[in-house]
Amino acid sequence: MKHRYIFVVGGVMSGVGKGVTTASIGKILQSRGLNVTAIKIDPYVNVDAGTMNPVEHGEVFVTDDGDETDQDMGNYERFLGADLTSANYMTTGRVYQTVIQKERNLEYNGKCVEVVPHIPLEVIRRIKNASKIAKADVTMVEVGGTVGEYQNILFLEAARMMHLEDPENVLFVLVSYLPVPKHLGEMKTKPTQYATRTLNSAGIHPDFIVCRGEQFMDKPRREKLSVFCNVKPEAVIAAPDVSSIYDIPALFEAQWLSTTILKKFRMKPRASDLRKWKEMAIVQKTAKRTVKIGVVGKYFATGDYTLSDSYISVIEALKAAAWSNKVKIKLDWINSEDFETNPKSIARLKSYDGILVPGGFGTRGIEGIIAAIRYCREKKVPYFGLCYGMQLACVEFARHVLGKAKAHTVEVDKTTVDPIIHVSPIQLKNIRENRYGGTMRLGAFDCKVKPGTRTAKAYNASVISERHRHRYEFNNDYAAAIEKKGLMISGVNPGSGLVEIVELKDHPFFVGVQFHPEFKSRPLDPHPLFKAFIAAALK
Ligand code: GLN
Repeated sequence: MKHRYIFVVGGVMSGVGKGVTTASIGKILQSRGLNVTAIKIDPYVNVDAGTMNPVEHGEVFVTDDGDETDQDMGNYERFLGADLTSANYMTTGRVYQTVIQKERNLEYNGKCVEVVPHIPLEVIRRIKNASKIAKADVTMVEVGGTVGEYQNILFLEAARMMHLEDPENVLFVLVSYLPVPKHLGEMKTKPTQYATRTLNSAGIHPDFIVCRGEQFMDKPRREKLSVFCNVKPEAVIAAPDVSSIYDIPALFEAQWLSTTILKKFRMKPRASDLRKWKEMAIVQKTAKRTVKIGVVGKYFATGDYTLSDSYISVIEALKAAAWSNKVKIKLDWINSEDFETNPKSIARLKSYDGILVPGGFGTRGIEGIIAAIRYCREKKVPYFGLCYGMQLACVEFARHVLGKAKAHTVEVDKTTVDPIIHVSPIQLKNIRENRYGGTMRLGAFDCKVKPGTRTAKAYNASVISERHRHRYEFNNDYAAAIEKKGLMISGVNPGSGLVEIVELKDHPFFVGVQFHPEFKSRPLDPHPLFKAFIAAALK
């Protein structure tokens, strides 16, 4: 079969939405009946995103096969409705690691192994491999960073080589930014012209320029960019700020982007079907009721911008669940440390329809989170705990219902007398030997759901599969005691008996899960537990 490739590169500055652009172009091609996959290339030396601070780097997105990847992979999965694997993700560190390992294995047959061409060749091998695995008609390849950076040159070199080999089946999209300086009030194209030239000097000519900006790019600017950057006017695409990222595919289609791409690829036009996608966008705007959810955690003192990046999959899962319940959602970030310094402030949780505690690590703000969970349990506020949010719900229950005042997770208190959340011998060894990269319990595992529970009802299934990323786990020595007092174990791993889900019997909604359901939620196929949480919150 014929594989086609679209490289998406950034110019002018980072953080303007290259990932969403990549996902949206993939979406409009998919809506025309093509099989589309997407690859993210990150230029940093880290082998994966798992060792990076989410506040600096954004969410660590976990794939089914347990890769710890960049948050853009989540955008691809959500837009394309696909489960991607580690084949769809690479970093400089990962590429070098493979090349060095191959050299050690004598796989280069005595040759001198050099940065060029061996590094780009390994990049190309990985791109083609992902495309083959997905049987993709079109493979989107997003190159992280911006053109002109030292770090992504070898990836651009790989793209150039692929184009040289098969020019008809490789396209380039430059995602640029058009600033509107306040004192001028006018959209400026010059930075984009320079970015195009920088890309040209890497031997690459853009086929499309996607023009991000606060405003819609007007006709004179489109014509100017067309002439100065040497692209057809119809290949200069306006991408103004929008209220919802899910509007972007339709925005591109209004400018005939997929038609132009198909023409460039010499493919026959096929009908586009974005109907369901557009219906979802309508609910977002027309819903009358709003559900108010508080997200309690610790990374929250850093300002909204980074926050929404650190928990992007949780946010998108909540939104999708709200829309499927035909309501809008208002999300508030609540810093758990406030409850530690001012315990009375916990009463503010009363104003929420539901409280969610997402995944996290470490010691900071933990007592505040436990206080919030206690409030939800006692005052019957719907509560949904993800990963750390489940573990801390167990700690809270042990302390205040089982009467074990010193109960804790050993992540925070290594010598607690009641380690209700403990660490397995393998993980203890990893920690002792400082083996942190890629060593958590990662990826999809099966979970057997107990019939008759709220969880079983939500999933409408007896065995489920969910993605994980944790080192600590529930200590089964406490299983009988918590169940006796009403905290049901409603899901366990069939092989190991590891506790995956707990839920309170007499409560409108109090569910904690050891996994990360947010990674499997899709805008058009919201996660059943998120849907049930929002439904309970609405009641
Ligand atoms: N810190 C906890 C653990 O490592 C929870 C991890 C998480 O929430 N992703 O087990």
